[in-house]
Amino acid sequence: MLILLKKGATDDQVAAVEERVRQAGLTPGLVPGKARTAITVTGNWGEAMIPDVRSMPGVMRAIRVSKPYRLATAEAADARTEIAIGEALVGSDNAWFVAGPCSVDEESRLLETAHYLKSLGAQALRGGAYKPRSNPYAFQGHGEPALQMLARAREATGLPIVTEAMDLEQLAMVEEYADVVQIGARNMQNYSLLKRVGRSSKPVILKRGLSASVDELLNAAEYILKEGNCHVILCERGVRTFASHSRFTLDVAAIPVLKALTHLPVIVDPSHPAGVRNLVRPLARAGIAAGADGLLVEVHPEPEHALSDADQALRYADVASLAAEARGISQVLNRSFGADAD
Ligand code: PEP
Ligand code: MN
Repeated sequence: MLILLKKGATDDQVAAVEERVRQAGLTPGLVPGKARTAITVTGNWGEAMIPDVRSMPGVMRAIRVSKPYRLATAEAADARTEIAIGEALVGSDNAWFVAGPCSVDEESRLLETAHYLKSLGAQALRGGAYKPRSNPYAFQGHGEPALQMLARAREATGLPIVTEAMDLEQLAMVEEYADVVQIGARNMQNYSLLKRVGRSSKPVILKRGLSASVDELLNAAEYILKEGNCHVILCERGVRTFASHSRFTLDVAAIPVLKALTHLPVIVDPSHPAGVRNLVRPLARAGIAAGADGLLVEVHPEPEHALSDADQALRYADVASLAAEARGISQVLNRSFGADAD
């Protein structure tokens, strides 16, 4: 059962609802929220008191939820969640366009890339300062200096910054610079990190784990929502299968499935499942056609100088074509893609 309080509900009203739940022998779980408070109640027999709770002052809705992820489930909301990031509204009819290098390397190159992407209608700049690498000797990211470069790129272009935090220590630092915190695929089930980012004031992109089911992804999102951060964007980025012709297998079906199961925005990352440049555009087109609320794509002006994921980095001309294609596909679906291009 889920109880949603009205926006202006007073502390006394919230306390009275909690007390009513306790009287029924159940345990209320308070979910603090900037916009509104929610109370989750475990146990099916809580349903009996739904009509009673509904009539209490300060209560907006009291509903039975059938899923274990009570706040992430589509049943918990009467509209899709829309998250304002810069001038974009993620989860709306406008599909979000995020692009940038896998890892931040050189400042002038990053600035040039940011300006170019903005001219194509990109709405946010991605770039890793801390990189989760399979090999410990591989480039690990420039750390805080990279975050500072990203902040200067934001200042120069107005583009909000998306960057990853891999652990609790990095998160404190990343939050100071980022507009959106990315939780990478390898950390989708890092529950202490999820709880901590749930207390962050920054929106979160939560990437699907390498072998995670859709249910596991939604339960991971629930960890963040439960702490009060309702700004969670899910990202399908491919899963591991027996197929060896691409780096991962983009689970296109997961996009409409997730959109039916949750009110949260669902975006697609076509770069990591592709692994190679020539597969990125077809996968991106498939993701947008399947209804993704945005595209997170890796771009580098000179992939031969990229310090990570060089083979899958789109060049300028590729990303220009992709943006045009994504616009065309979105139009067919009565949506738009990205901001206006120059
Ligand atoms: C990335 O976005 O560069 C990245 C490491 O993604 P993932 O966590 O999906 O592998
Ligand atoms: Mn990458």
